[in-house]
Order: sequence, then structure tokens, then C-alpha cells
Amino acid sequence: MTTFRAIAASEPGPATLQELTDADLPDGDVTIAVAYSSLNYKDGLAVTGKGKIMRSHPMIAGIDLAGVVEASDSPDWKPGDEVLVTGWGLSETRSGGFTQRQRVTADVLTAKPAGLTLQQTMAVGTAGLTAMLCVLALEGNGLTPADGEVVVTGAGGGVGSVAVAVLANLGYEVAASTGRAETHDYLRSLGATTIVDRAELATAGRPLDKERWAGGVDTVGSQTLATVLAQTKYRGAVAACGLAGGNDLPTTVLPFILRNVALLGVDSVSCPAPVRDEAWSRLGTDLPTDLLDAMTTVEPMTKVPQLAEAILAGATRGRVVIDTAT
Ligand code: NDP
Repeated sequence: MTTFRAIAASEPGPATLQELTDADLPDGDVTIAVAYSSLNYKDGLAVTGKGKIMRSHPMIAGIDLAGVVEASDSPDWKPGDEVLVTGWGLSETRSGGFTQRQRVTADVLTAKPAGLTLQQTMAVGTAGLTAMLCVLALEGNGLTPADGEVVVTGAGGGVGSVAVAVLANLGYEVAASTGRAETHDYLRSLGATTIVDRAELATAGRPLDKERWAGGVDTVGSQTLATVLAQTKYRGAVAACGLAGGNDLPTTVLPFILRNVALLGVDSVSCPAPVRDEAWSRLGTDLPTDLLDAMTTVEPMTKVPQLAEAILAGATRGRVVIDTAT
């Protein structure tokens, strides 16, 4: 019987490196030799057991995977196809991506976009897809580079780094908010022209502050999102996707009813396939691969438990790809 390694939890609590067999894989019509996964904030919560992410056990952790189809009962996929999955409940309601083998239902698979390697698709991963969905949401609200500066919070993290790079490449003036001085040069190298101290946005100001941002991508939530809303210009918009600073939102209705500010919610997990396809296509054209490579580190799967602690502590930079072979 084939054995393979995975980061899994048999019961609520931390996930660990385990040796599994095909009998441990779920039902599904496509079996994948997984080459890479990626580390996201939600993986930190799941692998450490600090957040209730896994809804059942046993469960393989990892919300993303990329690899090659080994066997398929679906007419849509054949052995040798290069595929990826992001979200769709992996590591929550479905067995996840920190593994050398996985079996999924055909409907959750995305074909590897042309122009990206399998490893680069995981450098993008859920975080990068979410950043692009935020950009699409802002564009859908009418934002253009001519409108003025766009702020990205939690900029040194995965979602933030991709958002900075994509927006700057599209011609936006980008203000990157970070709590880490050591990321300033890195953020400028991705295209940020202004650096905002995280503490400045995390401090409560007036319900309507001086108009500063044409738009925003917020990965932090809580007071940071409230401050960004209070500083957003008339008819501007903020895409909210994260809670790295907390899941509360201590705001008033004033930015919405007096400045016509739009708060745009962004979810990547259950995002419909046509929107995902558009986002992946846009990532292919609007995220320079040299910047993607510069924001990526590749780590072995054996290190996932310690990397999970690091991402929750805000100590990882950019994107972390997980190589399942090591
Ligand atoms: P990362 O940990 O890579 O990035 C988060 C960044 O937020 C950190 O790098 C840090 O940036 C900043 N940060 C961390 N802690 C705090 C704090 N206490 N207060 C203020 N800022 C803080 O995570 P991801 O990029 O993977 O995810 C970012 C957020 O987006 C998470 O909350 C995640 O759950 C959410 N998310 C949501 C998705 C969706 O579908 N809606 C999908 C993917 C992610 P710096 O050091 O530069 O300040």
C-alpha cells in the first residue's frame, strides 16, 4: 500500500506530520500527486489548533494545493493535467493540501494558468487570489489610478504583498501600511511609494477624518479598517478581506452616509468559479512574476508546524510556498 506524508490532526488541537495511506483519503473523482501547497493565516489558525478551522477530524491541514492528476473518473481531467485548488473548504470541511497525495471532487479544480509554474501558483495561493479579488472589487466600484492613493494594510503579509505589487503595476499610487520597519525597503521594491506606520491606523481618530485614500485593501480589520474608512475620499471604496488585527469593526455610519464610501466584502473560499477564473487570468497579466518570486520563500512541509506559529505572530514576510516533497 502506498504511504505518504501529510500534516494532519486526528482530533481537535495542533496538526502534526503523519504517515498516511490512500485509505486515509476522502472520496472524490480526481487523485492528485501534490507538489506544493502554501501557508496562509488560516493555516496558522488550523495547524496550531488556535482557531476552530477544521470542522471534523481526522483532517489533513492546508487550504491550498497544486500538483499533477494521477487518476481521474471525471471527463474534465486526465492523468498528467497540472491543477490547483484554493479554498473550497480545504482543511475546513474537506481534506486539505499539506500532503503528498489528495483526492478531490472535480468541481473544485482549476487548471494551472499558462505563464505560471505550479510552484508560482502556490506563491499566489489563496492570499494572492484574495488580493486580486480585492482589486477586482475596487475596480467594480469604479476606482481608477487617476482617483488617487490606495492604502494596503498588513502590507508585509501575503495578501498585502500581492495587493501592493498588483496595484502598483496597474499604475496606482500605493501606500503600504506595516508594523515592521524591516519591510519598508521590501514594500518599496514591490512598488509602494508611501509607508504608513501600522500604529497610525490602529489609533482611533474622528469618525470622519481628513480625506486621504481613493481606495483601500484591508487585511487587518478592527480599528485599522475603521480608520481607513474614516479617511476614505468621497465615493471611494475599501475592500475588506482580513482580521489579522481583530474581527470587530468600531466604526460609525458617517463615512457611508456622508461620503458615500463603499465597504466591499471579499471572500475567496466559496468564490464562484467564473470570478476565480477572471482573477487567475488577471494575476497572469497584472502580477509581475519577478515580484512574485521576490516575495516568495519555499519551505519544507516538515516545517509547517513552526511556520504556523510564525504567521500568527506576524513574523512571515510575503508568501510562503510549502514543498511537499521535503
Ligand atoms: P499574513 O500573516 O501573511 O499577513 C497579515 C499581516 O497583517 C502581517 O504580515 C502583518 O503585516 C499584519 N498584522 C499581523 N498582526 C497584526 C495586528 N495584530 N495588527 C495589525 N496588523 C497585523 O496573513 P495573510 O496575508 O495570509 O492573511 C491576511 C488576512 O487576510 C488574515 O486575517 C486572513 O485570515 C485574511 N484572509 C482572508 C481571505 C478571505 O477569503 N477573505 C483569504 C486570505 C486571507 P505588517 O507586519 O506588514 O504590519
